[in-house]
Amino acid sequence: MEALPEFELLRPRTLAEAVDARAADPAARLLGGGTDLVVNIRRGIEAPGRLIDLTGVAELMTIKADAQALELGASVSLADLAANEAVRAHYPALAEAAASIAGPTHREMGTVGGNLCLDTRCIYYNQSDWWRAANHNCLKTTGQMCHVAPKSRGVCFATFSGDLAPALLVLGAEIELVGPAGARLLPLGELYIGHARHDGSGGDGKRYLSLRPGEIVTRVRVRAAPGLRSAYDKIRIRRSIEYPVAGVAAALKREGGVLADLRLAFTGTNPRPVLLAGTEKLCGGALDDRVFAGLDALVRDQVMAMKTTFTPGHYRRRVAGVLAKRLVTRLFAAG
Ligand SMILES: Cc1cc2nc3c(=O)[nH]c(=O)nc-3n(C[C@H](O)[C@H](O)[C@H](O)COP(=O)(O)OP(=O)(O)OC[C@H]3O[C@@H](n4cnc5c(N)ncnc54)[C@H](O)[C@@H]3O)c2cc1C
Ligand code: SF4
Repeated sequence: MEALPEFELLRPRTLAEAVDARAADPAARLLGGGTDLVVNIRRGIEAPGRLIDLTGVAELMTIKADAQALELGASVSLADLAANEAVRAHYPALAEAAASIAGPTHREMGTVGGNLCLDTRCIYYNQSDWWRAANHNCLKTTGQMCHVAPKSRGVCFATFSGDLAPALLVLGAEIELVGPAGARLLPLGELYIGHARHDGSGGDGKRYLSLRPGEIVTRVRVRAAPGLRSAYDKIRIRRSIEYPVAGVAAALKREGGVLADLRLAFTGTNPRPVLLAGTEKLCGGALDDRVFAGLDALVRDQVMAMKTTFTPGHYRRRVAGVLAKRLVTRLFAAG
């Protein structure tokens, strides 16, 4: 185990103090629970001189949830989110996603903001300094090539693996960002730019968030859609404590025997959480083979099959599709 390098820890008490601290030192890193960032620091992946701990900022620690709307502060812990009765009752996909993250101690420390801004992952990246150096590093750090796709022409395919984002995407969440230029609201999907296109447009596994310099994720908001049922499921190698091999959130509306709305989002597969495009074409009729065949085609088209973890890429894409079908079937049949 490597020792942690020296760093200074700032503990702002207000959001204004946090924004000022961030603006004063652009190289400083924001710290939620540290359950991902501190691991990366220990592995020598990064070595920030200053960390700005957001868990003492009281205005970022509130959960407001009822049948109409949800507002979550960025410093809310995953354990509190998973245990919140109103979230469990009205936004079940989100509560289930939070409860499935890592292990119980990580969920006590880990925060909503840290989960939404989680670094992307890859077997060639989440390794010790000496391991990466022995393999000549890779594009995500200081190397010249991608070991997953040697002909990637500069594109990194490291995968986004946060579990909350897909659940929030199917619920239609917006995100509030605050920085030196003030506050702005974005549809959550616009936070993620890891499209990994070969023409270089948009970001990839290296540049995966649209945060502007000095910006902090402060809140997430959801306006409830009446009649929307939602759920979350994932597969992972160690069921008690592991990032998703693939995670799927589903939300749908059923009107009589008709599928009236369908939303699916995936994590652990692409350099961004993917809200599946084109599901509206599958709505308007019964939940039948036409819907499942259409769903398979959309998953094949939009969910990547890169080998950035121990499992083969095509296996990940297949299980993502299977999980999606299971969730949709279960939600449609629910009373
Ligand atoms: C063994 C193990 C298993 C894990 N399994 C899972 C899993 O199953 N699913 C999963 O999703 N995660 C998993 N994780 C990762 C991690 O525990 C969670 O994602 C957790 O929610 C991260 O939150 P944090 O507050 O600890 O983030 P931090 O580590 O504090 O921060 C993560 C990143 O977010 C940035 N950041 C933090 N807060 C903000 C903010 N408000 N605005 C902007 N940027 C911010 C930080 O600068 C950093 O880049 C696992 C980790 C470990 C060690
Ligand atoms: S996908 Fe390629 S460039 Fe990105 S972290 Fe993995 S090996 Fe490195």
